[in-house]
Amino acid sequence: MRGWLPALVALALAGCAANPAVEAVPAPRAYAHGIGGATFLIGGSFAPGRSPDGNSLILYGPEGAFVIDSGRHAEHLALIKQGLSGIGMTPVAIVNTHWHLDHISGNPALKAAFPDIKVYGTSAIDGALTGFLAASAASSRKALAEGAVPASAVADVEGDLATIARGAELRPDVVVDETRDVAIAGRPLSLRVAHHAVTERDLWIYDAAEKRAIVGDLVTVPVPFLDTACPEGWMKALDDVAASGAEQIVPGHGPIMSLADFEQWKRAFADFIACAKGTGALEACSAGWLAGAARWADDDRPRTKAMADYYGELVRSGKLDGYCKA
Ligand SMILES: [Zn+2]
Repeated sequence: MRGWLPALVALALAGCAANPAVEAVPAPRAYAHGIGGATFLIGGSFAPGRSPDGNSLILYGPEGAFVIDSGRHAEHLALIKQGLSGIGMTPVAIVNTHWHLDHISGNPALKAAFPDIKVYGTSAIDGALTGFLAASAASSRKALAEGAVPASAVADVEGDLATIARGAELRPDVVVDETRDVAIAGRPLSLRVAHHAVTERDLWIYDAAEKRAIVGDLVTVPVPFLDTACPEGWMKALDDVAASGAEQIVPGHGPIMSLADFEQWKRAFADFIACAKGTGALEACSAGWLAGAARWADDDRPRTKAMADYYGELVRSGKLDGYCKA
């Protein structure tokens, strides 16, 4: 999720109205939880009033370990490092699914700790550094100066500014702008590139040996994080995931999904976008999401609803249309 500021403002407002009794309990993090096939999941976080960390994974092969996505916060980075030391292997690579700061902020520290690391990712970060992230940094500095950032979010905002200031260090060593098969640490994987989906170019990983798709923010809970998205391209990418042969889907945020879970999430996504692009009340779109994705939303319905309202309005506004242009 990128558009933290408007979203956080919306969440802060929603929080005032919320019954404290239903205040969300942050989802428990799974510390380097083995999911089979020499793969470990480090669950992301999304505590109330804070910016999220995406899920990270550690995989290993005959020639070492590698990390998929490096999170945002120091606590998340510490879990990745614990996971790496737990399996006793030196990481040789990071694969970044996309440039959102909840997935790449740990890159510089991991590269400093493990100098052999090569980062795989798309070149979409180049446009983001001069476009979205530069604009985001400017509005963050202004909001901080005006005291407009909620106290609980100040540390996150300052952390993101520090990360953006080191933006050049986030760029990939190995640019992957088209789908291709690779071997990382001696382990064969298919890197699939989705164009104009969550960002201008997203990378997702198909691990054929495990029938597992690691899809970054092509799947997120409690809502789809549409800040920099082209909804139509995103839908096409979901079709590609569905057709990949995957029997298990690892989302960018939230729990691992079976193919049936994924199909349910995908239907809720398609319905939400169709509703938000229509002319009916946006309230109905949020209600539709809360019903269709209820199993992923129910732990904090007021916050989920506030976020669905925000993203429904964003889709309807036409502000995302520019992200669909080549
Ligand atoms: Zn994310």
